[in-house]
Amino acid sequence: MEVEFVFAACLVALFICGCVWARSFERKTWNNGICSECAKRWVCFDMASDGSRGYRCAGCQRTKRIWISWAVDTNPRLIDD
Ligand SMILES: [Zn+2]
Repeated sequence: MEVEFVFAACLVALFICGCVWARSFERKTWNNGICSECAKRWVCFDMASDGSRGYRCAGCQRTKRIWISWAVDTNPRLIDD
């Protein structure tokens, strides 16, 4: 009983840590809607079936692409062009 509880608690803790890590990673990648390499704006080019948004860089020869699944891309700077 106790062993099972500890095991389940560890799984939950791992899951939460994974979520927090993934979100902070995406937030860092998103960088307030600005590419960290060339300081150009991310441009949305596609949305996946799971709801994650695909962005490409407006600079970097437009080859750099990121996928954002967490709500870290709700930045008002994206609305004005
Ligand atoms: Zn770039």
